Amino acid sequence: MRMLQYGLFRFGESALGLKVLRRMEDLRAMERWDAGRLARWQLRHLRRLLDHAWENVPYYRALWKSAGVHPGDLARKSLDEIAALPVVTKRMLVDAGDACLDRRHDKRCFVEDRSSGTTGRVFISRITRAQRSWNIAAMLRSWEWTGWRMGDCWMRLPFGASRGMKRRIQAALGGGAYSVIPRICSQVMDEVLVDIVRAEARLIRVLPAIAFALARQAMASSLHDAAALRRITIATTGDTMHEPYRTAAERVFAPPVYDYYGGDGIPGAAQCAAGRYHVPPTTHLELVGGARGDVPARIVLTSLTNTAMPMIRYDIGDTALPLPPDAGPCPCGCTWPMLARITGRVSDIMVTPAGCWLTPVHFTSLLRTLDGLNGFQVVQHAPDAARLLLATAPGFDRRAAETFLLPHLADYAGPGFRFFIECVDEIPLTDAGKHRYLITSPFGAAPPLAPPA
Ligand SMILES: [Zn+2]
Repeated sequence: MRMLQYGLFRFGESALGLKVLRRMEDLRAMERWDAGRLARWQLRHLRRLLDHAWENVPYYRALWKSAGVHPGDLARKSLDEIAALPVVTKRMLVDAGDACLDRRHDKRCFVEDRSSGTTGRVFISRITRAQRSWNIAAMLRSWEWTGWRMGDCWMRLPFGASRGMKRRIQAALGGGAYSVIPRICSQVMDEVLVDIVRAEARLIRVLPAIAFALARQAMASSLHDAAALRRITIATTGDTMHEPYRTAAERVFAPPVYDYYGGDGIPGAAQCAAGRYHVPPTTHLELVGGARGDVPARIVLTSLTNTAMPMIRYDIGDTALPLPPDAGPCPCGCTWPMLARITGRVSDIMVTPAGCWLTPVHFTSLLRTLDGLNGFQVVQHAPDAARLLLATAPGFDRRAAETFLLPHLADYAGPGFRFFIECVDEIPLTDAGKHRYLITSPFGAAPPLAPPA
């Protein structure tokens, strides 16, 4: 069976023009490189990337010119010199449009990577097939750190409306099953728990909030085979893995939970068995500001191997904690740079009177299909009602949006709950200057974090 899955994977990757297995081999070898060899490899790719962006990507050339820097002067020194280049943000890249793409190619030949998480705004990054191979390899290699092997059954449990056949086929070619979670409630969680045991899944790829919801349901219900669930590894991605989520998931599923961090087409960092986050060599990760004691710092990413839409000093809007200076090498043996914890991408959970849970992903999965949106925020102003604030731009069609959104939202929230849509110019930030997607207190309080007795 394993050989069959392996053969299927080989067939799948060549049909898609990818070289995932080869890149996984590269990554396995690179885990043992010393710091000097890793730095030389990264510097070589950084120089190539900066030269390419200067020559072929009009946005970066204009940006660096106006900042008075020439990348050729920088990249001859060390990786740290990259800090002399200006930081770019999602908004800057969206505004730049096609000017931030490799002008030598038609953009249709790149792979689109749509932000699926909790950013509140649709963002399409574009990557080459070579980069896609690196990205998939980084994720699969991190799964191997859990004991998963190519050919073991895994399941992907995305949240939201049903997706196209393409993703199911892609998952099947990689030996994975694909089951969409339409809403987070007891009934659906029970069905999913039964499915994953029946499929003999070795690993589940899921959002942290859904791992938490599954764990709570397993603890609350006597329906499920506790020993079978205990053999399943949880690999989370797409949102912050909060400690209460992790604690609950590790009581039900095979500990530890392995979190994978990445976004906008860039692999960020993956947790090893020792609990540390390792940054793969294809990504250069800087921590900017903060980072004293337990003060998180902003993550700035450079994807060293993507030429389609170079992401050079990209402020992704997340925060992380570094390891203390005396942490020493990782017991897992991997030599890649490390982080202690990803602290950003905070999201809340809203509970409706019908007992359904809503997370920011409920909204992003719907809103990303609409044009003319700059962001959103949900404010629960009564036990049975919430306002959905939409920051709109030209091109937004309010009537069409309401016709589309309200039935879906009613379905997610269950009976006895109402949404009111309001259009605003901008979504207000918190006093700390942060964006919150869901504001729930003091009504729909977050579910109790302690497991039921
Ligand atoms: Zn490690």
